[in-house]
Amino acid sequence: MKNILIVGAGFSGAVIARELAEQGHRLTVIDQREHVAGNCHSARDAETDVMVHVYGPHIFHTDHERVWEYINRHGEMIPFVNRVKAVSKGRVYSLPINLHTINQFFGKTLAPDEARAFLESQADLSIESPQTFEEQALRFVGKSLYEAFFEGYTRKQWGVSPSELPASILKRLPVRFNYDDNYYSHRYQGMPRDGYTRIVESILDHPGIEVRLQTRYEPAMRQAADHVFWTGPLDAWFGFDLGRLGYRTLDFETVRCDGDLQGTAVINYCDSDVPYTRISEHKYFSPWEKHEKSIAYREYSRLCGEDDIPYYPIRLVKDKALLQQYVDRAREEKGVTFVGRLATYRYLDMDVTIKEALDVSDAVKPALEAGARL
Ligand code: FAD
Ligand code: UDP
Repeated sequence: MKNILIVGAGFSGAVIARELAEQGHRLTVIDQREHVAGNCHSARDAETDVMVHVYGPHIFHTDHERVWEYINRHGEMIPFVNRVKAVSKGRVYSLPINLHTINQFFGKTLAPDEARAFLESQADLSIESPQTFEEQALRFVGKSLYEAFFEGYTRKQWGVSPSELPASILKRLPVRFNYDDNYYSHRYQGMPRDGYTRIVESILDHPGIEVRLQTRYEPAMRQAADHVFWTGPLDAWFGFDLGRLGYRTLDFETVRCDGDLQGTAVINYCDSDVPYTRISEHKYFSPWEKHEKSIAYREYSRLCGEDDIPYYPIRLVKDKALLQQYVDRAREEKGVTFVGRLATYRYLDMDVTIKEALDVSDAVKPALEAGARL
């Protein structure tokens, strides 16, 4: 049996703790916050009784059977489809770009093949292999749709021109030539009936796991553990001594009202003269509940300062160069494994986070079983 310290009680830390506790090890999971579940934390708002996604909207979607089974073992998932609306120049459209968006935007009634041919006529075909976000958009949806839906939003979200961002960010969104307005394409999509925090609490509910909240990692804690799993920021482990990896942080402006505010879960605001990127009306994430009052978040994105919560890794060229230096050092570190979205400096959806945590656990179990040092 090993004494293992896990820093961070988000999905990454919780899943590894549970897997190794079931193998008979003793786990201590610490988190500097006063709750588990990391950025997926959800809690009922005292005034409206609505389940709030405290750090921004989270919709569970996956194609991984094992991950879907895992999450369902720890809480009831209710089918949920995210249907996002987007406001551009004072009009409401459907996102991701689908046949309805194309027909509404261009005032047409095109059939799928006609719409495909029409967008080809809008596209900049001289861009053979798009590298940047802007090139990807101009190549696949053309200038008008790019300017209406992506340029302003992306500048607000990332703080730089889309010509400085990688094409991979836009590739997260499909373009559909039918009326399917489901934001995601995954087979399993759902929302936990009792919120994400209850799920993470259930994962951590094992006699071999001790959870200590409001506990920040101190290097001295390392001595008492046979091994550490670090799910905090990679650069924080090294005391930021080579500099800080760039993140965007979010500010949420809370709005409460009687009745409904906007009538759906998420509306994106694509114009640059609106300062926020989107509004999330939380009761629409639990449509099986009835509430007379409503609570919504207006979401603002800005550069992450030293005391802010890191949300989105920026991953511009200078960040990638610094990342490589930290990765080289991390490879030399003994007795610590870096896991999760912050420690690997990547944008990871919840399902990928759980999948990677299960994979890491699978990989270390044989060595732990044999009593070896990791
Ligand atoms: P985290 O949840 O960040 O957990 C890390 C924990 O480590 C935190 O609780 C932190 O307090 C703790 N910690 C850090 N440093 C220390 C320290 N020094 N001492 C003690 N504790 C420390 N995914 C989806 O699948 N669907 C979505 O719709 C979705 N929406 C998102 C919306 C937003 C705005 C964001 C930012 C992310 C979204 N995600 C979504 C991604 C999701 O949040 C992540 O997949 C998930 O949070 C990753 O879990 P994690 O455990 O790796 O990290
Ligand atoms: N995006 C945009 N307009 C929108 C929605 C998204 O320009 O209305 C861009 C934006 O740059 C965003 C990216 O597309 O970061 C990926 O969208 P997604 O919804 O996956 O963003 P996230 O979940 O990261 O907020």
